[in-house]
Amino acid sequence: MSNETTGMGIGGRVEDSARVKRYHRSGRILGVAGYLVDLALLLILLFAGWTVALRNLAWHYSARSWLALLIYLGLFGIITRAAGLPLDFLRGFWLEQRYGLCNLTLAGWVKDQLKGLAVGGTLAALAVEFLYAVIRRWPQGWWILCAIAFIGFFVLLANLAPVLIFPIFFKVKPLENPTLTERLLELSRRAGTRVRGVFEWKLSEKSKKANAALMGLGNTRRIILSDTLLEQFQDEEVEAVLAHELGHHVHRHIFQSIALQGAATLVGFYLIHRTLDWLNPRFGFQGAADFANLPLLALIVTVLSLILLPAVNAYSRAMERQADTYALRAIPSRAPFISSMEKLAELNLAERQPHPWIEFVFHSHAQKFTA
Ligand SMILES: [Zn+2]
Repeated sequence: MSNETTGMGIGGRVEDSARVKRYHRSGRILGVAGYLVDLALLLILLFAGWTVALRNLAWHYSARSWLALLIYLGLFGIITRAAGLPLDFLRGFWLEQRYGLCNLTLAGWVKDQLKGLAVGGTLAALAVEFLYAVIRRWPQGWWILCAIAFIGFFVLLANLAPVLIFPIFFKVKPLENPTLTERLLELSRRAGTRVRGVFEWKLSEKSKKANAALMGLGNTRRIILSDTLLEQFQDEEVEAVLAHELGHHVHRHIFQSIALQGAATLVGFYLIHRTLDWLNPRFGFQGAADFANLPLLALIVTVLSLILLPAVNAYSRAMERQADTYALRAIPSRAPFISSMEKLAELNLAERQPHPWIEFVFHSHAQKFTA
């Protein structure tokens, strides 16, 4: 949701409280620190020769390429997760608790982390195994094939996420409010999107924040409303929130994002291909298929995404503005739109007036799970 932009543009100039500013400043400091830790670790793995040692260890236990890679990935994963954990804890649990936004116990948070590790680890292992299998076979042309396969993978994931991945982390059930359901489906029909149901998302078990999303692709497309939102918002306000989400659909933002992500993946893989050819010998890697070069690959991705971040965020903010404009046209009056944005800003401790530089670098206005 673009509560921040909306709060500024439509609700007038609203000053952020010192508490909101502190919350966001702490979040940003922890975010940047986490990024630096990741970066430093990749550099250490590369320059201190750790990655070569890990690769040798992996090959010692298995002569099969895929199994040796899996062992290497396990070790790589343990080291990077262990290094990232303290900052993840501070940002994901401690900060949220401190500002009273979190309904999770520490045990619940740890359980979510383990689930995330299992799901994320499996997906990452599949992707990396596929990547190196293709590099082994086509050392020169792998980047084209992998880019195409990864785009297919993104689309498949967007389709499967609401039915396969989301329920691992959250309880979801059909909304038991026929009047509101019908009203939201009607709004979706008018936006020209086929939605397969409206669902209540039990977010209150974990957070005090409110959120809504139009999720999934094709036959899994659905409206998801957090119970925190349903509890505190009038039907008109829920409608306004959904109208914003539908604005993304009407302006084809999902397809645009997939296309842009696809283009970035293709260019990124090409740059990785060229850089690996150039730098592999310097680090003692035996060609592109030597998986000891994984930290180098991750480093290139990390640096590229940082360079692209301001552009991605600017694009994202433009999408949010388009969605807001659509929402205001789609619902009968402005009042519920404004009050829903105010409530969201209040509940989620959103920053309504970030400093322009901070906005430029950090703000996409797109929350997790929000399409
Ligand atoms: Zn949005």
